[in-house]
Amino acid sequence: MTHIAANIAHINQQLASTNARLVAVTKTKPVEDLIAAYEAGCTTFGENKVQEMLAKWEVLPKDIAWHLIGHLQSNKVKYIAPFVQMIHSVDSLRLLQEIDKQAAKNERVIDCLLQIFIAQEETKFGLLPEEAQAILASEELQKLRHIRLVGLMGMASNTDNLAQVRQEFKDLKSLFDTFALQFNNLPNVVWKELSMGMSGDYLLAAQEGSTLVRVGSAIFGNRL
Ligand SMILES: *Cc1c(COP(=O)(O)O)cnc(C)c1O
Repeated sequence: MTHIAANIAHINQQLASTNARLVAVTKTKPVEDLIAAYEAGCTTFGENKVQEMLAKWEVLPKDIAWHLIGHLQSNKVKYIAPFVQMIHSVDSLRLLQEIDKQAAKNERVIDCLLQIFIAQEETKFGLLPEEAQAILASEELQKLRHIRLVGLMGMASNTDNLAQVRQEFKDLKSLFDTFALQFNNLPNVVWKELSMGMSGDYLLAAQEGSTLVRVGSAIFGNRL
């Protein structure tokens, strides 16, 4: 077994008693590494750049579910709309409208997560809770027929303080639960996914209610 296969088996075993599923974050990694992961049974890959995802999608098996996890510019949505399964990083209504438009052209429905700003760092992308609330409550959202809002995504602070990270996950889960109650009657809102947790904190995230952990270096080794 390759290291990659062993790492995937180990993580899946750890997640087995939780509600979290693994998204293997393959950014910067060569296609051979993705094939090793695929052959180990992992078929959900997360990339953070449009061009890189497109290049890998073109050469890899078509039953792979591609998740975009990085910041997405509106003018690049068209490149991934034919195949992307989920976009974790939606941070505006305008982007959601563009995803809807491109999905319609491809006669598809694309699952989207609203990225929430949960870290105590200025650099991370994401919406404030009240901004996400405003998108969910907007009339414009109800006109979109080719996207499905399926939940929230967040990135915890990059810190060794696990108590802080746990609190950030708790806050995101609590927002997720609040929205679940508040927006349970919209046709294109199907609240089911909470994307949180990376290599350093995926078990913590799974304990706090994550349904999708985004794990890169713990599978493929450190990125250069
Ligand atoms: C790179 C990345 C990850 C994975 O990070 P690791 O620490 O390597 O597991 C998860 N989420 C996002 C948004 C990323 O950009």
